[in-house]
Amino acid sequence: MGDIIDGKAFAATLRQTIAGEVNALKSERGVSPGLAVVLVGDDPASQVYVRNKGRQARETGIQSFEHRLDMDTPEAQVLDLIRDLNADPRVNGILVQLPLPSHMDAEKVLQTIDPLKDVDGFHPVNVGRLTVGADAMAPCTPLGCMMLLTDRLGDLSGLEAVIVGRSNIVGKPMATLLLRENCTVTVAHSRTRDLPAVCRRADILVAAVGRPNMIQGDWIKPGATVIDVGINRIEGEGGKTRLVGDLDFASVQPVAGAITPVPGGVGPMTIACLLHNTLIAARRQLAMLPPR
Ligand code: NAP
Repeated sequence: MGDIIDGKAFAATLRQTIAGEVNALKSERGVSPGLAVVLVGDDPASQVYVRNKGRQARETGIQSFEHRLDMDTPEAQVLDLIRDLNADPRVNGILVQLPLPSHMDAEKVLQTIDPLKDVDGFHPVNVGRLTVGADAMAPCTPLGCMMLLTDRLGDLSGLEAVIVGRSNIVGKPMATLLLRENCTVTVAHSRTRDLPAVCRRADILVAAVGRPNMIQGDWIKPGATVIDVGINRIEGEGGKTRLVGDLDFASVQPVAGAITPVPGGVGPMTIACLLHNTLIAARRQLAMLPPR
């Protein structure tokens, strides 16, 4: 029976470490890192994420600046806000909560963020730097997955890694990070032939699809380390909804060497890594880290 990788506990420890470092920054330099979160519209899931990000930032001593804008806010107003935040010395990290309303060009909005303040790591400058192996801001969810993997496995060199999903926010940066750690990386997607056979090759399997319970136990190499990024809300007993991942947990756990649960696996790591990136961004802006 595979071990459960407790992302909730790992994230709590990471937040404590960050809080200590934030405190040290305050006493050494008199500066508290600041994170600005921009939310456009009233998507209920996004509201919960933004609330949690603000609360956890404050708990670690990071200043949180929340900007909530109406659904019908013109794109130009959002771009102006981002330019103001780029220029605001109290703000070290800027996050625009996705998805944006359909009248906005998300690419344009994300590209307006100063790459030094791009704590989500979605700006093409950071994507490019990550890809060429330069120092870059890594996207929070894949970064969290990497922390769990290296904590569990140590050196990843030479391991076969399969990622199911090729989105810009999870699948592709995950592939880059695993390659950087010398894994042999396969990225599968909706056109992949014989997905179960591809998954069976994996010493490390990362599921980032968005399809509830899709990946089955007989797709798993015995002893593999399996990371479930998926967050899917499904109808449970008594009409209540509940969260499940992309893995069929009941059939995968007996075969895997280790597995992340949903909830309590990758999810908590994403916010902890956002705070980690905010601290890194603050240090860089204070020239405490080498210039890029
Ligand atoms: P996305 O942009 O919708 O991408 C999904 C990927 O899965 C695509 O590359 C798609 O392939 C692939 N796919 C879809 N159906 C497939 C199938 N039947 N077989 C193989 N591949 C298939 O999703 P995302 O933003 O990466 O998110 C993925 C999941 O992670 C979602 O459940 C999301 O909620 C969750 N998530 C969680 C966190 C967290 O903090 N834990 C953060 C981000 C996302 P094509 O490219 O060919 O269409």
